[in-house]
Amino acid sequence: MIAQQTQNCSPANVWGTVFFVICCIVMRLFVPLLRFKEFGVNMLAPILTEYEHEQLESLVKQARNVVLVAHQNPDGDAVGSLAAMTLLLRRMGKKVTAMVPNPFPDFLRWVPTATEILLGDRQHYKVDNALGRADLLVMLDFNSPRRLGDQLMEKVMGAKARRLQIDHHLDPDVPCRLTISHPEMCSTCEVLLRVMLEMGWTEGLTQEEATALYTGMMTDTGNFSYASSRPEIFEALSILLATGIDKDRIYRNVFYTHTEGRFRLLGYLLYEKMEVLEELHTTIITMTNEERLRFKTKNGATEGFVNLPLEMEGMKLSIFLREDTEKKGLIRVSTRSVDDFPCNELCAEFFNGGGHKNASGGSLMMTMEEALEVVHRAVEAYGDRLKTNG
Ligand code: 5GP
Ligand code: MN
Repeated sequence: MIAQQTQNCSPANVWGTVFFVICCIVMRLFVPLLRFKEFGVNMLAPILTEYEHEQLESLVKQARNVVLVAHQNPDGDAVGSLAAMTLLLRRMGKKVTAMVPNPFPDFLRWVPTATEILLGDRQHYKVDNALGRADLLVMLDFNSPRRLGDQLMEKVMGAKARRLQIDHHLDPDVPCRLTISHPEMCSTCEVLLRVMLEMGWTEGLTQEEATALYTGMMTDTGNFSYASSRPEIFEALSILLATGIDKDRIYRNVFYTHTEGRFRLLGYLLYEKMEVLEELHTTIITMTNEERLRFKTKNGATEGFVNLPLEMEGMKLSIFLREDTEKKGLIRVSTRSVDDFPCNELCAEFFNGGGHKNASGGSLMMTMEEALEVVHRAVEAYGDRLKTNG
C-alpha cells in the first residue's frame, strides 16, 4: 500500500498530471476554433493588405478637414456609412462635413448626425466651402463618379483633396489615392466596420457609431433577408450589438415609418398599377410624378416598394419605374430579383445602369409608355432565365 502511494507521487506522474492539465486547457481554448475551421468559416480575417493598412493610416493621420460623400438617392447604407465615418473621424479630432447629391428619405433622419448632411442640390454655398477646405475626400457606397449626379460629380472630382474610397459595389471606377472595395460584403457599413476593426478604430466604438453601422447593414440586406448568408456578417453584428444598441428599435425606426400618404400610395400601386407576368415570374409597377403627388408624398417615399412584389410566391424579378423628380423626361428604373437572376446584367443591357446581382437600377430618357415597352422587351429577352420554375 505504502509502496503504491510512493509510486503515485513519483516525479514522472506529477509531470504527467501537469501535462494532462495543460492539454485540457489548450483543448478548451482551441477546440471551438477547430470546430469553426471544420465548417470552413474564416472568422473576421483581415481584409486590408499591408500596403492598404499603411496608406489608410497615413491618409487619415494627415487629414484635418475631411469631406464625406455618398451617392444620389441615398439609402440606409449611404446615410449609415456617412454617419459612422463622421462620428469616427470626429472622435479622432478631425473636422468633418458629410454631403450627398440630393435628399434622403425621411425615415433616415433619426440616424445620428444625418440632419447635418449637406444636400448638393440645395446647399451650394456650404458644399463649395467644405470642398474648398477639404484635404481628404472619402467616397462612400458608390463605384462610379456618375452616381453623384452631374453637378456634385463635377465639384467633387474637381476638388484638390486626396481621395479615399470605401465601397462594396462591383467594378470600382473612382480615381482615388486608395480604393477599399469589397463587393463580397453586404454593405459599405460592413466594409467600414471591418476596416475599423483592423485599424484598431473600434477601440472606443460608441453606440451611435454602432447604430449607424447596423442601419446600413440592415437596410442593404432587407433586415438580413437577402445578400446576408456569410457567417462573418453575424460575427461583425455581434460586435455592434455588444455596445448595447437596440436593434429592434432601429428596425422600427426604419421600417415602421409610413406616412398615411406613403401607405395609401403603396396600396394604390399594388392594387391598381402592378402588372404580373405570371409566366415570366415578373412584376412591373409604374408611377408618374402626378400619382406620387396625388398622395402628397415626397421624392424618396417609394424607397423599398420595389422589394415587395417578390414576396409573392414564385416571383423572380420585380421592376419599378418612376418619373424622375428633377429631370423632365427621365424614367428611373429599379429592379430586384431572387437567387441567380442577374438584375445588373439586365440593367446594363437595357436601362443604362447596373448594380448588384439582386438589386440594380438605371434610367431611360423617354416617356413612361416607351419605357414600359423597353421593359417588356427586356424581360422577353431574359425569358429563358425567368420562365423556369424553382
Ligand atoms: P435602387 O433601385 O435602390 O435605386 O438601386 C439599387 C442599386 O442599383 C444601387 O445600390 C446601385 O448599386 C444600383 N444602381 C441604381 N441606379 C443605378 C444607375 O443608374 N447606374 C448604375 N450603374 N447602378 C445603379
Ligand atoms: Mn450599399
